[in-house]
Amino acid sequence: MAAPLPDANTRWRCGGCGNLTRFDVTRTRRTTEFWHFDLAGDHEVEESTTQSEEVESVTCRWCGRSDAIELVARAEVDATTS
Ligand SMILES: [Zn+2]
Repeated sequence: MAAPLPDANTRWRCGGCGNLTRFDVTRTRRTTEFWHFDLAGDHEVEESTTQSEEVESVTCRWCGRSDAIELVARAEVDATTS
């Protein structure tokens, strides 16, 4: 079960080691892209629209745990680290 996504007021914190800044996020995205080809046959993606997105796992880069990632309030973190 992946951790809920952080928003404007929250952030991730690893309950195992206290990491706040580095996570591996595995996610599946379904997108529709506008591919613009040039005459040589190379292309660039000029537009991309995400149709759906699912986060499968969030893993701490420091201790490797994916079962201890929790949402905490950003304000709460700022108060304890500054
Ligand atoms: Zn950790």
